[in-house]
Amino acid sequence: MKIDRIELFQVDLPYSGGTYHLSGGRTYESFDASIVKITADDGTTGWGESTPFGATWIAAHALGARAGIAELAPALLGRDPRRVDRNFDLMDATLVGHNHAKTPLDIACWDIFGKSVGLPVYELLGGGTGTPMAMISSIHAGDPEEMRARVADHRARGYRGHSIKVGTPDSEGGPALDAERIIACLADRQPGEFFLVDANGGMTPESVLRMLAMLPSGLDIVIEAPCATWRETMSVRQRCPYPIVVNELIQQDEDVTWAIAQDAADGIGLKISKSGGLTPGRRQRDIARAAGLTVSVQDTVGSMIAFAGIAQLGATVPEKLLRCILNTADMVTLKTAEFDFIQRDGGILPPEAPGLGITVNEEVLGEPVAVWGD
Ligand SMILES: [Mg+2]
Repeated sequence: MKIDRIELFQVDLPYSGGTYHLSGGRTYESFDASIVKITADDGTTGWGESTPFGATWIAAHALGARAGIAELAPALLGRDPRRVDRNFDLMDATLVGHNHAKTPLDIACWDIFGKSVGLPVYELLGGGTGTPMAMISSIHAGDPEEMRARVADHRARGYRGHSIKVGTPDSEGGPALDAERIIACLADRQPGEFFLVDANGGMTPESVLRMLAMLPSGLDIVIEAPCATWRETMSVRQRCPYPIVVNELIQQDEDVTWAIAQDAADGIGLKISKSGGLTPGRRQRDIARAAGLTVSVQDTVGSMIAFAGIAQLGATVPEKLLRCILNTADMVTLKTAEFDFIQRDGGILPPEAPGLGITVNEEVLGEPVAVWGD
C-alpha cells in the first residue's frame, strides 16, 4: 500500500458559545482548521485535522500548520501509510518540530491503517478498555453566576467533568474574581463530578497563590496549567495543596519525562495536535501510565474529525488514569463529519467502525487549497 495523493482543505469553525474568553484577556470567536485527506493506491482514504486554538495560545497557528504540511506532504508520497512510526521518523527528518503540522498527516495514516485491516484505530492503539469516557466541558471565563449556569447546562447534557477557566488580570477583578468563579461553579456539584481549575498558563505564581488563599477548604479541585513556565509551575507546585495537571507545557515526549523526573505534576493534558498526532500521543500515554500520571485526552480545539482521534486514543487509557476526554466538536458549529459514538453510563465510547469511524461531509470542505500527488 502506498500514499498516492494528499489533499489539504481549510475551513473556519465558529465557536459555538459566541466569544471564548481565556486568561490574560485573550478572546476567540472562530478557529481556522486544516484538514487533510490522504488517498492510497488502492483507493482507501484517510482523514486528519489540525485546528490550533488561535495564534495566542501555544506556538502553533493555522498558517504555520498549512506551511508545515506543504513541507511534509511531498516526502510522504509513495510511503506505506500503515508504517506510522517510520512515517513519523520521516516527518521529523523533513521538518523539525511543528507538531501541529504533522498531526493531520499522522492521523490520516492511522485512519487508512484501520480501514486496511477492518479495525477501529483504538484496537490498533492497543485495544479499547470498553469503559465509557467522561467528557469535560470548557467553561470560559465570565461572570461567576453565568459560569455556574453554563456548568449546569453541560451537566444536563451529560458532562461529568468541568474545566473552569481562570486567570483574570487584577484590573478586571483578579484572583478574587477567579476564586468567586470556582466557588460558583462548584456550588451545585453532583456525586461523581470533577472540576479542573484551568489558567491555561496565564497566571503568575503570586496570583495563583492569592486565588487559592481565598478558597474555602475542602473543595475537590485539580489545578491545571497555572503558569507559562516550568519554573513558575514548580514554584506553585511546592506551595499548592491541590493536585496539578500540566497541559500547555507538555508538547513532546521529553516534556512528559521531565515532569515525571521533577515530580512536577499529577497528570497531563494530552492534546493530540500539540503532541504531533496519534503516534507520539500513544507514546506519551504510555510514559504517563508508567509514572501513574492521569491523562486528559483532548485537542487544542477542532471539529468532529479531531474529536474522532481523541475518542480513539482516549478509549485505550486505563480507567483509573483517564481523567476525561474533550468533545472539541461540541465547541464549534460546523459539522465536518458524522461520527456515531456511543453514549452510555454518563460517558462515550467510539464506534466499532474501521479507522477513525467517521464519514466526512466533503461538501462543507469546499475545494482543496493544495494537492500533492496524482
Ligand atoms: Mg487546559
